[in-house]
Amino acid sequence: EYCINSILIALIMIKNAQIHFNESGTPVADDFDDVYFSNDDGLAESHYVFYENNNISTRLACHDQKHFVIAETGFGTGLNFLNTWQQWRQIEGNKAKLHFISFEKFPIKQSELAKALAAWPSLASLSEQLCKHYPIALEGCHRIEFEDGRVVLDLWFGDVHDTLPKMNFTQLGIVDAWYLDGFAPSKNPDMWTQPLFNAMANLSRDNATFATFTAAGFVRRGLQEAGFECKKVKGFGRKREMVVGQLNTANSTRNTPEFYNLNIRPLNKVAIIGGGIGSSCLLYHLAKRGINATLFCQDDALAKGASHNRQGAVYPNLQSENSPSSEFYAHSYLYALRLYKAIAEQGFEYDHDWCGVLLQAVNDSKALQHKKLVEKAVWPDALIYPVDASQASELAGAELPYSGLFFPEAGWVNPAQLTHAVFDAANALQGVQTHFNTDIQTLEQSEDGWYLVTEDNRVGPFSDVFVCAGEHSDRFEQTKDISLHGVRGQVSHIRSGEASDRLKTVLCHKGYFTPSHDGHHCMGATFDKHTKSRELKDEDNVINKAQLMKFYEQNDFAQSLGEITSAKAAVRCCFNDHLPMLGQVPEKSDLCHAYANLSKGKQYDFSEEQVPYAGLHIVTGFGARGLCSAPLATEHLIAKLCNEPSPYSLRVNEAIHPNRFIVRDLIRNKI
Ligand code: SAM
Repeated sequence: EYCINSILIALIMIKNAQIHFNESGTPVADDFDDVYFSNDDGLAESHYVFYENNNISTRLACHDQKHFVIAETGFGTGLNFLNTWQQWRQIEGNKAKLHFISFEKFPIKQSELAKALAAWPSLASLSEQLCKHYPIALEGCHRIEFEDGRVVLDLWFGDVHDTLPKMNFTQLGIVDAWYLDGFAPSKNPDMWTQPLFNAMANLSRDNATFATFTAAGFVRRGLQEAGFECKKVKGFGRKREMVVGQLNTANSTRNTPEFYNLNIRPLNKVAIIGGGIGSSCLLYHLAKRGINATLFCQDDALAKGASHNRQGAVYPNLQSENSPSSEFYAHSYLYALRLYKAIAEQGFEYDHDWCGVLLQAVNDSKALQHKKLVEKAVWPDALIYPVDASQASELAGAELPYSGLFFPEAGWVNPAQLTHAVFDAANALQGVQTHFNTDIQTLEQSEDGWYLVTEDNRVGPFSDVFVCAGEHSDRFEQTKDISLHGVRGQVSHIRSGEASDRLKTVLCHKGYFTPSHDGHHCMGATFDKHTKSRELKDEDNVINKAQLMKFYEQNDFAQSLGEITSAKAAVRCCFNDHLPMLGQVPEKSDLCHAYANLSKGKQYDFSEEQVPYAGLHIVTGFGARGLCSAPLATEHLIAKLCNEPSPYSLRVNEAIHPNRFIVRDLIRNKI
């Protein structure tokens, strides 16, 4: 039942708020007829009601975890977030990382956000950063990082009643303090409900607090019923009362089933095997958290495997329905763009062009797919929008015969340079040790941790090992059952001509074709399931060229192309469902034993001590759209291991979890 529910909860299109500014300059929501903050000094009100009444400063300075989590109902203009961030900056010495989650049903448009926040000059530099990274109106969690990841904003767009239950959490809870905002209960009664109060309690850690501006009796009683001890205190300014409270002991609710859990780990000595984009991203997220890691790679440098093409397109794999897979790719893509742009701004450079990616309806089946996607209208235009052939030609700077779909923010990167740049960004935050030309042959588990064994050496112990070795990820005894497929792909480099040099955007027909760079276009890729050979093949170059000419023979840009001068071949690794795999390596017989009764809907018995491969993680399957998905997928894994909130919904966590194939087979009684 759980699995079916999680898949059926599809996403919906988000509507922006309709607002105007009143005579005091305060933003007002037309639909609610209520102000976003007080006409008399909203910043002081925010500070008093939410920040001080949750006692945030003191708690940030002496917290029992490395991160402190605040969750808010109603992001609005982000004033509460900005004030909290500003206060966090002023706390001296050691302080917990600030993780701010906010739920918003009707996001304010970016232009109006800037106008609303202009009222607070003292917050100007932080407001500017917020406005710059403010996400598009897509339902789900947008993870935005500031201050090198020391301040994290998770903006969950959607009705809090829908989005809050989609978060995955364990019985330990994740939230330390609640800002219970949202327009006045009289103006927005739909939000202030018992299910919301109960969900707040379920997500709360021991001693979690809340504060709210309202003193409405039903709110106080509802929170009491959910388990919070409540009291009235003096309200802000002319308001007589408001309510604050605390949940002394977290309740034992969890919404992630045990078989899709990612257990908390110490991560005190980490080894990563592999040198592609996945490894660099893992290192980056570990470095942000001050966690040491050592990289082992069989090649003599990073990005010698599947991450080595000259130009790789970065765009998400979207279906017409907002399936778990589409949700995964859409949000991962948006995060990848933020991360890649942020490191470039810090001087970690790589060749790239955010020139957009144009999907072309080159045949009937593509045209039908595009039509369905447009009809379902699940995706905002800021993510993807339809174009006719003339608009496509205009965007591309070349005469094109097909209509299509355009990703305006997408583009291409040099994957090898990007892998180095992300690695360098990680290394700048926290020195990374590297061992190249090191072929790890076996993994040994002992009482004190994991050992990596080469032909003549045994290195360790490590508390945690991440196997992130692309096509080689299943070479170990412990990982041999993960059902990974290697798919050979060859990309050809073809000399550009006068007309093809004018191409302004990446074209995707059945393969892809990039704008020229250094006098060449990348064209490909072949798709060959039956060989793992990396040898270059002339016939694959012929196939790549023929594929392009089949669709564009009559067009100037294709006719102007020169000869193929070189090519690259790689083995991309993927799983049957085209999603990567991240989490602890499953031990098949143990899982089957623990969850043998799943098909009968029975309880299972599986305690943490029994986990056979504790600390051995698999991070692979980035062969399909890895440049787009690796940054957020790896952030999700590291966050979960550190008991931080995940940026992924329950159904996405499940979709990429290593146990998924075995658990689904168990449920269907196929094992
Ligand atoms: N905290 C905000 C700030 O710092 O600017 C002000 C919040 S404003 C008073 C209330 C917000 O709650 C609005 O942005 C509104 O769209 C949002 N909201 C109302 N009902 C909601 C619901 N059911 N789920 C999520 N957000 C909701």
